[in-house]
Order: sequence, then structure tokens, then C-alpha cells
Amino acid sequence: GIYMLTLGIDIGSTASKAVIMRDGTELIAESIVPVGTGTRGPREVFQNVLNQAGIYENQIDRILATGYGRMGFKQAAREISEISCHARGVHYLVPTAGTIIDIGGQDAKAIRVDADGRLDDFIMNDKCAAGTGRFLEVMSRVLDIRVEDMGEVSRHSTKELSISSTCAVFAESEVISRMSNNETVEDIAAGIHRSVAKKTASLVTRMGPIRKDVVMSGGVAHNSGVVKALEDILKCSIIVPDKCQLAGAIGAAIIAYEDLTNK
Ligand code: ADP
Repeated sequence: GIYMLTLGIDIGSTASKAVIMRDGTELIAESIVPVGTGTRGPREVFQNVLNQAGIYENQIDRILATGYGRMGFKQAAREISEISCHARGVHYLVPTAGTIIDIGGQDAKAIRVDADGRLDDFIMNDKCAAGTGRFLEVMSRVLDIRVEDMGEVSRHSTKELSISSTCAVFAESEVISRMSNNETVEDIAAGIHRSVAKKTASLVTRMGPIRKDVVMSGGVAHNSGVVKALEDILKCSIIVPDKCQLAGAIGAAIIAYEDLTNK
């Protein structure tokens, strides 16, 4: 055709994301399915974007896969690391980004990029559930609220309450004990967000002085309570693009276009 179509698919531990782009610049389809690797998620999200764009798989010029489950996706020409994809995708969404904080379902990363969005440095936590989306999901279940509502609920906190356990399992016991002591859900939720933010902030500061702008990607960026707690600890404002959870898939689609054009 007169333009090139690329598809980026980000198969995460918790959610599947895909986009189709025209000439590596224009987003023409996007989809998120809230189940990840080893589920119907990858197949469904792939079909969703093809349907949205009104095209068949063979009309796509190149497909790249990223994310924790990227190895199992046969339609992809190659796989690339999430770090490179998030760097590329966030640079597309927020060209001024200097630091990227990505919190997904099962890991957290701090990434530093240069003015062209190229990778400079990164630090990752994938050894421990505390400080990840999974931790927030477990805690929301204990609090009996939806994980999507935690940010809003914590906004009504009136008392600073700390969750001091650094281990996710012990933190859960701590939350249960706070609840039986009649602490409010609002205050406990805010304490949980501070504990996630503390873990994440230590990843960021280990890279050295903070390079602005600071941008959050990944699904947990949707949680305004975590974002606010991080802003308080890092003492800087954080930009959250609407398409924060699609950053990895967007990066994969852009790199697919660069592969084709040797940019
Ligand atoms: P992965 O790539 O590891 O699968 P994602 O970056 O897709 O992870 O993020 C998934 C996480 O984002 C989940 O833990 C989920 O709870 C969280 N999440 C997604 N949407 C929201 C939302 N609207 N509010 C709060 N958390 C959200």
C-alpha cells in the first residue's frame, strides 16, 4: 500500500494490550483485555484491533510482540524487551519524558531516556510482589473495594497511617489487623498507596538525580492514589498519559515500523 501498517502486542502477566499504527505515527486501533499470558487475552486483543481497523492479518506489514508472555506469540516477526518498548511508547505519548515509571501487574521499572527517547538506564523489581499491581489487587480484595476505585477512596483519607511491612504477605496481615482496629478503608488505602510509592521511589532514586519530565506508564498509573503518593515522595509532578497502559504496545508498533524503514 501507500502506507505501512504495524501491529504491536504487549502480552503482560495481567493484561493483554495491542495497537495498530499507520507509518509508525498514527494510532488507528487499540485494545486492552484484562487477562494476560496463557489466557484468551492475546488472541482476543489481536482480533479486536484487526476488527477495529477493518483489516485482515495479512494486510499488516509487521507484527512485534513484547511483555512477559511475548515468546509464545507465533504471529510476531520478533520479540523485543518491554524496557525498549516502554521507552519508545512513552516518548511517543510524552516527547519531553526523561524518567519513566512503569508499574504493571507483576513488576515495576524505572527507566531513564534521553531527549530522543532512547534508553539510558533502567532498574527493575520483579522479585517481590510488594510495589506491583498484584499487591494492590490483593489489598483491594481485603478492603472489599474494586482496585479501580482505590485511588478515589484514598483521596478521602484524613489520617496518616503507615503500612510498615515490606513483604506483601505480612502487609496483608497488617491491613487485616488495621481493619479489625476500626481504621477506615480510606486511611488504609492511602497507607497502601504510600507503601507502593515508597518501593517505587527507591527504584527511581537508585538511578541517580531525577531527570524530568517524570511520566508513568502501565496499568497502575490509572491509580491516582499511587501517582499522588509518588509525587509527594519524589517531590515532583508526574505526567500520566491517557494511554498509559498502551505504552508498551505502542512502542512495539513504532519499533516494527523502524524495522521496515531502517530508521
Ligand atoms: P502487565 O503488563 O504486567 O499485564 P499492566 O501494565 O497491564 O500489567 O497493568 C495491570 C495492572 O493495572 C493490574 O494490576 C490492574 O489492577 C491495574 N489497573 C488497570 N486498570 C486500572 C484502573 N483503572 N485503576 C487502577 N488500577 C488499574
